[in-house]
Amino acid sequence: MKQTAAIKHLLPLVKLYPWAIPTIVFLGVLSSVFEGLGISLFIPVLQTLLQETPQSTNQSPLLQGLFQLLQGIPAQERLWMLPAGIFGCILIKNGLSYTNTVISAWFNSRISHRLRSQVFEQLLSVSYSYLEVQDSGRLMNTLASETWRTSQAISVMISLITTLCTTIVYTLLLLLISWPLTLLIGVVMGIISLIIQFVTRRIKSIGQQAVQANADLGVRMYEGLIGMRTIRSFGREGYEQQQFDRASQKVRKTLLKVDMLSGTVQPLYEILSALLVLSILVLAVLHDRSSLPTLLTFLFMLYRLQPQMQQIDGYRASLQSLSSSIDDVLMFLDRSNKPYLQSGTVPFQKLQERIVLDGVSFRYSAQDQPALNGISLTIPAGKTTALVGPSGAGKSTLINLICRFHDPTTGQIWVDDQPLQDLDLSTWRERMAIVSQDIHVFNATIAENIAYGRLDATPAEIIAAAKQANAHEFISQLPAGYDTPVGDRGIRLSGGQRQRLALARAIVRNPHILILDEATNALDSISEYLIQEALELFSQDRTVIVVAHRFSTIEHADQIVVLEGGTIVEQGTLDRLLPRGGLFTKMYQLQNRTLKR
Ligand code: ADP
Repeated sequence: MKQTAAIKHLLPLVKLYPWAIPTIVFLGVLSSVFEGLGISLFIPVLQTLLQETPQSTNQSPLLQGLFQLLQGIPAQERLWMLPAGIFGCILIKNGLSYTNTVISAWFNSRISHRLRSQVFEQLLSVSYSYLEVQDSGRLMNTLASETWRTSQAISVMISLITTLCTTIVYTLLLLLISWPLTLLIGVVMGIISLIIQFVTRRIKSIGQQAVQANADLGVRMYEGLIGMRTIRSFGREGYEQQQFDRASQKVRKTLLKVDMLSGTVQPLYEILSALLVLSILVLAVLHDRSSLPTLLTFLFMLYRLQPQMQQIDGYRASLQSLSSSIDDVLMFLDRSNKPYLQSGTVPFQKLQERIVLDGVSFRYSAQDQPALNGISLTIPAGKTTALVGPSGAGKSTLINLICRFHDPTTGQIWVDDQPLQDLDLSTWRERMAIVSQDIHVFNATIAENIAYGRLDATPAEIIAAAKQANAHEFISQLPAGYDTPVGDRGIRLSGGQRQRLALARAIVRNPHILILDEATNALDSISEYLIQEALELFSQDRTVIVVAHRFSTIEHADQIVVLEGGTIVEQGTLDRLLPRGGLFTKMYQLQNRTLKR
């Protein structure tokens, strides 16, 4: 049973508020009891109106209790007291039922919020390597749709519980009024529902045929569209029209069958139920005339119960259809089968001397070729290290390891004689700023986008950073200056403007270590110049690690590391590397020819 599994999966979430479900159940039961009681009061009302003595009716315990209460009260008074009682019951029932709705809604909103929050927390905490291999469309679907559908499942579950309570209370009341009648009706209703099930099963199978016929028609439409040239050049319009009409007719016929059969369910149900109810009524009244008020009340209650029972079926079906969403969300939330980076505990203060990579190798997954293989490298503090090499050489991977987006598969990274893994991750990243190729501009103002580098930056600091990044001038020309909204929903910035914005974001952070991943596609020469100028100034006395594509960056580096196929092939300063005639010399000469200085 898929819906039971769905409920079982939702239980850990529900347990966050352990009192909620019992309260909802309690209130649900209580409100049904009051409704049932209100309906039961119709029996003495009818009896009083029919001028019958209460004692003469059947012996059900509920009714006996009711009659004992009313004994001694004159019929005249009973006529106003009973309707007042009924009204009181309706009032209480609705009060309780509204309270229950509010509690259920509160509970549902809390759980849904927790769920969304947990999903987002998972997204932020799961190892980056996990996210890299996920299909981003699927992840987006989990985050956006499936999480909502799971919240919906929680609300359906609550409704199911409440409706089940009502059904149980009503059934008990029916049994209390007349158990033989309830059992009899239960058995006959069971038979009716079997007949209905037989019909619905048939509808389902024809429904599948309709889906198939529709798919066939879709294929014809698609082929007609893409094969149009062939159809026309061979003069096959008539033939195609015939084929299409045949497929369309099939859809028409199967859908008609489905509609005709579906249309029988409601009438069939009503006719059979009416037949049943009327037969029982006639038989019972023929047997004992005085039971008419009880019977009428009984039938009224049955009438109220019926939609509840139909609802249960509806809720079960919804839960069943939502269960795959629940599975999807819970699978994403499951922490046991996902990698997490453990943060160390040593707070990072300042890079004193160097970062050392000692025999570092890395594979993105066990099946992949190593992206880095036996890298041993010293990155001195306060100097600029340029990483160069062809695409796929492992430059970005090296940066990812230093930022600790991943841990090396083998080997160790040392930060001033401290293993990187032992450092507190947040303090490590706090002292670091990354300006990468894929700069993300958030849907916020320019000022907010810059302050993303340091959330408590003052407006003056933001402006100072923008000035240093050579961005102040273009920002001042925007319609609302620093308050101009940017991102997908705001003003679109050019590539050069985005890069300067990213640089300002890094500058406002005032990092000890600056990581740059230069864009491969060349910018216009003014942007290029402005960025370069800003960078040179900002890089002074900072540890800079740069994936270099620009000639001038390489020229200014204190150390150049040439990577190829995941290993270091050359390393040194420009003056030492150039005369060697190796990969670097070749790349340098090629760049020299294509890039402007
Ligand atoms: P570069 O930055 O020098 O172009 P990368 O570090 O991006 O090189 O890539 C190095 C190698 O690792 C390449 O073979 C690339 O295909 C592989 N690689 C990069 N990212 C991933 C990833 N997320 N999953 C699997 N393999 C990857």
